[in-house]
Amino acid sequence: MENTSIAPLLDVRNLATWFYMPKNLFSRKNDPIRAVDRVSFFINQKETLGLVGESGCGKTTLGRTILGLETPVDGEIIFSGKKIAGAGTALKAKDEKNLRKRMQVVFQDPLSSLNPRMNVMDIVTEGLLEFKMIKKKERADAARRLMGVVGLDKDAIYRFPHEFSGGQRQRINVARAISLNPKLIICDEAVSALDVSVQAQVINLFSDLREKYGLSYLFISHDLSVVSNIADRIAVMYLGRIVEQGRCEDVIFSPMHPYTRALIDAVPVAGKEKQQKMPLSGDVPSPLSPPPGCTFHPRCPKAMDVCRKTFPDVVSSGVIGEHRVACHLY
Ligand code: SF4
Repeated sequence: MENTSIAPLLDVRNLATWFYMPKNLFSRKNDPIRAVDRVSFFINQKETLGLVGESGCGKTTLGRTILGLETPVDGEIIFSGKKIAGAGTALKAKDEKNLRKRMQVVFQDPLSSLNPRMNVMDIVTEGLLEFKMIKKKERADAARRLMGVVGLDKDAIYRFPHEFSGGQRQRINVARAISLNPKLIICDEAVSALDVSVQAQVINLFSDLREKYGLSYLFISHDLSVVSNIADRIAVMYLGRIVEQGRCEDVIFSPMHPYTRALIDAVPVAGKEKQQKMPLSGDVPSPLSPPPGCTFHPRCPKAMDVCRKTFPDVVSSGVIGEHRVACHLY
């Protein structure tokens, strides 16, 4: 799937998105919350990058920054060869609108993402009308076509979101996302609220659509086992930074970072219920006052003196250096 001979569809370089808490009696200075800190990765055309990490590690903020919903304090984002965020970037309204068309999102909660007062036809064709890709009288035909593409009953276009199951509602969200022929879809915990059997069906739908329409995905999830079912490459995030990334098989079968190993050990295995607990001590530190050095050191079973002082540089491994890790062990 990976094709390094052409420029990536999405190229994120040293991206940083920080938030500032209001000053109060207990905080003498206005320290930033480094939700995303010096993050770099790329997504090729027709490729899926899985982004995994525990809740609160910055995955969603990273997705929102790419979508233009948060403003980065540093770094840059290049999409389809055009810089869309970073120093000196000022997109014209027309470019921003065009960007919205080519980059779509599917959120975790299928119900709250859908307007309960709109029927399915209005939901999935709203963007088509806004971008003048169809006329009003063509709505029903367009909606039926989209329903068919995502495996739903074409005659259900006049029904409302509450009349569908959770899996069906997520398919409606997917229909809306693909309606504008996007290049990239950001799936933010898009299957996390679904039953396991339904999860598999929706993941298969994402895979089929990628083949059919040449889509790329940034597939964000806390669940490494889910991500491994769809991703070509995986990036592991901890406290705002990507600590390991590489081809799916390399990260899953030859993990380098101790945090990635812990995530893999936490994946449930049939007959080994004890394995379901994350084998890590301590809690995730606050992003407001991250530990010095490697931010994983308070929980790392392999921490050394240097880890408490210096954040490790990213080093490459693998045949063409596509497996990268930030850890003093390497
Ligand atoms: Fe553990 Fe040190 Fe590697 Fe951080 S740099 S993951 S503390 S060994």
